[in-house]
Amino acid sequence: MERIRKGDRVVLRKRITSSRNPDATPIVAKGAQSVVLEIDRAKGRARVERVNLRWHHQRPNRLYPQGTRLEREEWVQLSNLMPYCDQCKRGVRVTYRTDASGTKEKCCRKCGTVLRSGGK
Ligand SMILES: [Zn+2]
Repeated sequence: MERIRKGDRVVLRKRITSSRNPDATPIVAKGAQSVVLEIDRAKGRARVERVNLRWHHQRPNRLYPQGTRLEREEWVQLSNLMPYCDQCKRGVRVTYRTDASGTKEKCCRKCGTVLRSGGK
């Protein structure tokens, strides 16, 4: 079972700053809470809704004959994300167990709430 999967609620463990000026106001504050949109397992990273937005400059194409500027989510490393627990109201470490019928469950290590049951 995977620690973080598409659609999961997660908490950002790190503040994200501009690479040009790391001392400036963070682009995303530590503790931001959101939902995973997409995961890139090979590179161990995810796109998280409204987290780490960057302007993407789209060259002219059929859809945008003038070209355009699109705001889109940039990748965040999975190691900087923590699964969110509704009971604890915070990002938590998780543990895995198998229930009586043999279904794998992902649980909050703090309060034991089942965060996901079955599936991958
Ligand atoms: Zn919990």
